[in-house]
Amino acid sequence: MKPAPFTYHRARDVGGAVSLLTELGEDAKYLAGGQSLVAMMNFRLARPSHLVDLGGLRGELAYIRDEGGMLRLGALTTHHQVENAPLGPGFAVLREAMSWIGHLPIRTRGTVGGSLAHGEATAEWCLLAVLLGAEVVVQGAAGLRLIPAEELFRGFFTTALEPAEMIVEVVFPRPAPHAALTEFAQRRGDYATVAAAVDLDAERVVLGGVAPVPVRVPEAEAVLARGGTFAECAEAAAAAVDPPSDYHRALTRTLIIQSCEEAMLR
Ligand code: FAD
Repeated sequence: MKPAPFTYHRARDVGGAVSLLTELGEDAKYLAGGQSLVAMMNFRLARPSHLVDLGGLRGELAYIRDEGGMLRLGALTTHHQVENAPLGPGFAVLREAMSWIGHLPIRTRGTVGGSLAHGEATAEWCLLAVLLGAEVVVQGAAGLRLIPAEELFRGFFTTALEPAEMIVEVVFPRPAPHAALTEFAQRRGDYATVAAAVDLDAERVVLGGVAPVPVRVPEAEAVLARGGTFAECAEAAAAAVDPPSDYHRALTRTLIIQSCEEAMLR
């Protein structure tokens, strides 16, 4: 299928893009890598009347800055740029998780900001942002604001972004040398059925695919904090979540153990 008709606009700078989207109203959308939005438009699941293409802002917003223990990613950084970045052990989990996202052509176009704004519950960037306590820097008509990743995801494909707000940067405030993300998908490159991410240093456990948003599991985190086994941690998570099926619960158990073991071996 082809998308419903729309008017194409090309943004020249961040301020101009935000003003334009504010002016055009709720029928307008930003276009980043197009890897989710264009597919939805082709299926007529999204029918924006106006697209504001952010492609011209890559010079400004596609960057990876390691500032000694704090990592800043521009919103238009692609998954593939991160996959190829010389990130040290503190942020290797980000680089390694990229291979789970779709296929190479998707990773060369899809962006960090687009993925967070799309807010899919098993999207790797959404899990990683919650796992590592990231802050999302957002530009709106009234100026900049910071949204903690844990507060960004509100429901099924729903985020805390106001209609014309643009994600400009994601800040990962601390390294995570003992963190890992694993998942199971029906076919390589598909979105995960269940994804599990663990940070052993911060004692965090995040799951995707068991709720409409990525969720931390305090019951499993408490097991890590008291020095319990990985199997106990996995059992606590499987008992605490309310997944769509027993199959998801079984995957939760297996993937948490796998993530813990990978994280420990780093
Ligand atoms: P777009 O598609 O351009 O935009 C997505 C949404 O975000 C739109 O609503 C848009 O208006 C909004 N938006 C974009 N940028 C911004 C911004 N800076 N500020 C505010 N709003 C913004 N993703 C995964 O995570 N894991 C997978 O396994 C996976 N598999 C895929 C398989 C296939 C076959 C395909 C086609 C896609 C897959 N994706 C997967 C999606 C891919 O990662 C997308 O890149 C990502 O979801 C959206 O990024 P984008 O830059 O393409 O955003």
